[in-house]
Amino acid sequence: MKTIGYAAQSAETPLAPFAFDRRELRGNDVAIEILYCGVCHSDLHTARNDWGGTVYPIVPGHEIVGRVTAVGPEAGRHAVGEVVAVGCLVDSCKHCDQCERDLENYCRNGWVGTYNGKDKITGEITQGGYARDIVVREDFVLKVPQNLDVAKVAPLLCAGITTYSPLREWNVGEGSRVGVIGLGGLGHMAVKLAAAMGADVTVFSRSPGKEADALELGANRVLISSDAEAMTAAASSFDFIIDTVPVKHDLNPYLPLLDVDGSLVLVGQIGPVDEPITTPLVFGRRRVAGSLIGGIAETQEMLAFCAEKNILPEVEMIRMDEINHAYERMEKSDVHYRFVIDMATLEAEAA
Ligand code: NAP
Ligand code: ZN
Repeated sequence: MKTIGYAAQSAETPLAPFAFDRRELRGNDVAIEILYCGVCHSDLHTARNDWGGTVYPIVPGHEIVGRVTAVGPEAGRHAVGEVVAVGCLVDSCKHCDQCERDLENYCRNGWVGTYNGKDKITGEITQGGYARDIVVREDFVLKVPQNLDVAKVAPLLCAGITTYSPLREWNVGEGSRVGVIGLGGLGHMAVKLAAAMGADVTVFSRSPGKEADALELGANRVLISSDAEAMTAAASSFDFIIDTVPVKHDLNPYLPLLDVDGSLVLVGQIGPVDEPITTPLVFGRRRVAGSLIGGIAETQEMLAFCAEKNILPEVEMIRMDEINHAYERMEKSDVHYRFVIDMATLEAEAA
């Protein structure tokens, strides 16, 4: 199936229009016409090969919402015309212990990323949602609750589940004292979700200009991370801190802020951080952990939670041809708070 999208041809080149093929429908596949695609910092990391291993050309995008246009002969979960969504993973082995626990995101045999993944059958490199269409195994396609605005729902598929999953795993609830480091795409979802779970939420930001927004999003207060006095005064006052900073950074200012048995969960930087000082960990049984997106069942649960609590991201809608400018702004932390591409603009550009 012929389609069009935007791809990076190398780590140094901007994204540009790209014609490519989607696979023919397999028995258990669903074809989706993409309506909107969110822009995650992981898209930028992958396009620029920050993590190594990017295979070019690469079409990023793993916050996808669209309409089913065709279903394979054995696919019965979704009907033509239905509004559906696809997140960061499009396949896994489905039989290992982790898949059996609905944790496809920790599949022992390797899950397949929506882009820059390797198809389990053909070995082809997967291409993501900055495109007109996508073909996905039906088990990895989510149902979108009807009361969620289709134009805003896409970022829940990565920023939403990546923050929801650790909040749930660490039992955040009424009165939990939660910190969120970095108020970007993931961070602003963490604030909304934690507040909706009943937590007392503090945002740690480098950007004083985001204070009013943070409160509006549901935070109870903002600490500017460079304010040493305020940071010291917050010692031992958090049960849970989620760290969304996308680059190598220093955890040491945050570890003493955890209370005894508190956890700091990394979801941003993948790779080295500055050398940690273990004293606050040992003297207080504090923990540092990590978390990767979420499984399909939990993603569906998160969508239901957002539908029930009326939670949607703050979206800045862009045209497909504005993507390179959006990346530049993302690098400067100038995102309020998730770019979403209106895919109708791709079709219009092609016409
Ligand atoms: P984003 O929208 O760019 O937000 C990141 C925020 O971190 C910025 O808004 C900024 O907030 C803060 N920040 C940026 N640069 C910083 C620096 N040098 N030092 C300290 N703080 C900095 O990015 P995102 O889409 O939320 O993604 C965040 C990270 O999570 C990325 O690395 C992405 O690849 C990763 N990610 C991981 C998963 C997972 O499953 N674990 C899933 C999706 C994304 P302030 O202006 O408030 O300081
Ligand atoms: Zn993402």
